[in-house]
Amino acid sequence: MSRIWLSSPHMGENEKKYVEEAFSTNWVAPLGPNVDFFEKQLSAYTGVNAAVSLNSGTAALHLALSLLGVNQGDVVLCQSFTFAASAFPIIYCGAEPVFIDSEADTWNIDPQLLEQAIEDQLQKGKKIAAIVVVHLYGMPAKMNELNAVSEKFGIPIIEDAAEALGSRYNNKACGSFGKAGILSFNGNKIITTSGGGALLSNDEILIAKTRHVSAQAKDPAPYYLHTQVGYNYRLSNICAGIGRGQMEVLPERIEKRRAIFEQYKAGLASVEGISFLEEPNGLFSNRWLTTIIFDENYFKLGTIETLRQYLETLNIETRPLWKPLHQQPVFANCQTYNNGVSDRLFATGLCLPSGSNLSESIIENVIVEIKKHLGL
Ligand SMILES: *Cc1c(COP(=O)(O)O)cnc(C)c1O
Repeated sequence: MSRIWLSSPHMGENEKKYVEEAFSTNWVAPLGPNVDFFEKQLSAYTGVNAAVSLNSGTAALHLALSLLGVNQGDVVLCQSFTFAASAFPIIYCGAEPVFIDSEADTWNIDPQLLEQAIEDQLQKGKKIAAIVVVHLYGMPAKMNELNAVSEKFGIPIIEDAAEALGSRYNNKACGSFGKAGILSFNGNKIITTSGGGALLSNDEILIAKTRHVSAQAKDPAPYYLHTQVGYNYRLSNICAGIGRGQMEVLPERIEKRRAIFEQYKAGLASVEGISFLEEPNGLFSNRWLTTIIFDENYFKLGTIETLRQYLETLNIETRPLWKPLHQQPVFANCQTYNNGVSDRLFATGLCLPSGSNLSESIIENVIVEIKKHLGL
C-alpha cells in the first residue's frame, strides 16, 4: 500500500502550463511574468496592498524582522507553540527570542500572557522590537486582543501565516493584520511552489525595501552599487508558475481540508475522550491539518505514541503536535512565559493525514484503524 502522508503536494490543472510558458519564453530567472502574476494573486486574495514572493517562509520572516528594525540585543516575543522556523530568524537578526505560551481556544499566543510578558520585559529594561504571532494549523490567533496589546505598547506584530493561507478572522485574511505577514509554499503547506514564501504588507515602503534587499540590494547605477547588505531571497519564475496554478485551486483545497476535518470529527464522535480544535465565533480555519487531543482522564499518557507507531506499521503518517519551542534544546537558554497549555497539547495531541489529495475512503480507513487500535 502506498504511504498516506500528513500533507503532500496536490497539483491542479495549470501548474505545468505556466512552468512550460516560463521555459518557452526563457524566463528561467528569479523574476518574470509568473512572479508578477503570482504576487498579484496573493495580494488580491489576502486583501493587502502588495505581496513579495520569496524563496521560503523563513526568508520572508527574516526580512520582515530585519526591515522592521530588529537588531542585535533586542527582544522579540514569539509564540512558543509553533514550528522552529517561526523563531530561527530572530536568531539570524542577533535578537533574543522570548517565548509566550498559548491560550486554549485557538492554541495561539495568549494575549493576556503577552501583555504580562511585555510589562515584565520592560521592567527588566529590555527593548522589545516585535511580536511574532502564529496562526497554527490554520487557526487564526485572537487578532483583536493582540492588536490592542500591540497598539498599547507600540510594538509591531508580524504574523506567521505559513499554515494559514485562506484562514480568516472576522472575515479578514490571516497575514493581513500585522505590520507584515508571511506565507509559506513549502511542499507540505495548503498550496506549494515546491518551496517558497511571501511577505504581505499594506506598507508600501516596507514592500519596496523587501523587493530591494531580497534581490541583493542593488542600487541604481551602471555597475553594481550597494549601500546596504542584501539577500538572495527571491522566488524563481519557474516556482512562481507552480504557485500561479495553485492559487487557481486554493478555494477547492480549503473546502477539501475542511471536509476532511468534518469527516474525522463525525467518524470519531462516538469515541469518548477525543476532542478537536473547534472554531471560535468569527474565526475561519483553512484546516491545514486536522488534530485530535486525547483526554488524560480517558486515555493513558503515551497513547499518541503507541497509536502513531501502530498507524506507521500501516504506512499511515501521523505526528505529535509541534513540540513547544521552550522545550527545544536549541532554545534552552531562552526565557519563557509558560501557562502549561502548549506542554499539555504536545503531550496529548496528534496530527492526522489531512492532504487535499486524500480520498474519503482513505480517511475512513484511518478512522477505522484509530478505533481498532483503541479497542473500539
Ligand atoms: C512551514 C512553516 C514556516 C517556514 O516556512 P518555509 O517556507 O518552510 O521556510 C514557518 N512557520 C510555520 C508556522 C510553518 O509551519
